Amino acid sequence: MKPAKVEVYYLEVPFKKSFEHASSKRDITGNLITKVILKDGTVGYGEGVPREYVTGETPDSATRILKKHFIPKFEKQDFTYFGDCVEWFSNLKEYKKQGVVYNSAKCSLELAALDAYGKLFERPVSYVGKVLEIKKEQPQDKHYSYIFSLNKKINKSYALILYGYGFRDFKFKINESLDLFQIVDFNRHLRRRITKGNVTLRVDANESLEDVNIRDVKTILLDLEKLGVTYFEQPFKKGSEKKLKDLKYDFIPIMLDESLCSVDDVKRAIDEDYVDAFNLRISKNGGIIQTLKIRQLAVENNYDYQLGCMVGETGILSAAGRHFVNIVSDALFVEGSYGTHLLQEDITQQNMTFRFGAKIKPLQEDGLGIDIDEEVFEKYALKITDFYYKNSFKL
Ligand SMILES: [Mg+2]
Repeated sequence: MKPAKVEVYYLEVPFKKSFEHASSKRDITGNLITKVILKDGTVGYGEGVPREYVTGETPDSATRILKKHFIPKFEKQDFTYFGDCVEWFSNLKEYKKQGVVYNSAKCSLELAALDAYGKLFERPVSYVGKVLEIKKEQPQDKHYSYIFSLNKKINKSYALILYGYGFRDFKFKINESLDLFQIVDFNRHLRRRITKGNVTLRVDANESLEDVNIRDVKTILLDLEKLGVTYFEQPFKKGSEKKLKDLKYDFIPIMLDESLCSVDDVKRAIDEDYVDAFNLRISKNGGIIQTLKIRQLAVENNYDYQLGCMVGETGILSAAGRHFVNIVSDALFVEGSYGTHLLQEDITQQNMTFRFGAKIKPLQEDGLGIDIDEEVFEKYALKITDFYYKNSFKL
């Protein structure tokens, strides 16, 4: 079956409250939604979240590469089995130019195709694991992590509500001011549970310590260790990975995020051995198939990894994350399914927001296992037509 049409949309959904980290403060998301329509009318949706401070993509440049590079290649295909589609995307190379890797564009198309062909050939997206011959592990009960916005005050009742809700793994954002008040407060609120190992804490600097004296970084890492923090994410800018060698021993493990977008980034990190763990994200890493392959590289080389998410992803990427966890359950932590906790409205009919218990529930239906709420989608989505595109429509 051939694809009949591929449409691209730019989706802007406002947040209920703003979310801040060292690289950005945002109260609206700007995502790329791809719609694949097959010859028999079967429809699939995919999503990518282009962020300049992650892959270097802007919504405009990601749309351009999607329309000029990825879609024309895809439109020529004619898949007979779900596995054909998986294999084609598995061989589809990343598109890199001038330091930008167009992985969110690639992800958006890949998820839409897997959704459409999954529905057509009656396979859930998690069937990708079988096609890629990924060893199925014993399923484990997995929970979502909770991520605090930068500088948000956390009082005791809020900490206890989140604990009571079912969250056990918490991530804090810091910036170059090195203010640890959130973590100090949180540690005080849940000290007994942290000491017992029932609650884990980790910190993400989003590259903000680039100009901070290395001695101060080391002091902070020792302070954080005393507060029960077990992982520290992306202290320095992408390109400054060599500085991490200085933090390799004697300090809490470092996890890379913005430094790891392309497959080559991951291979370099393994070759040069400057960190302990990776933060993989389906949009940043070019789709579920490529993220699974990167995870395989990590695991084979004894690196731990977590499955992260993008701020502002909708139910489409949340569903992809659930399929990922259904295929492999060895992620240290899993982030995602923020849905309407952050967005004013989500575009899926199914409620993909985490629920009481914070458990990650597998999706069994064919494709991604979601349906788009057309009314909500139309409210927030702008179709990128060739007319807009050719008239240098700038997003
Ligand atoms: Mg991060």
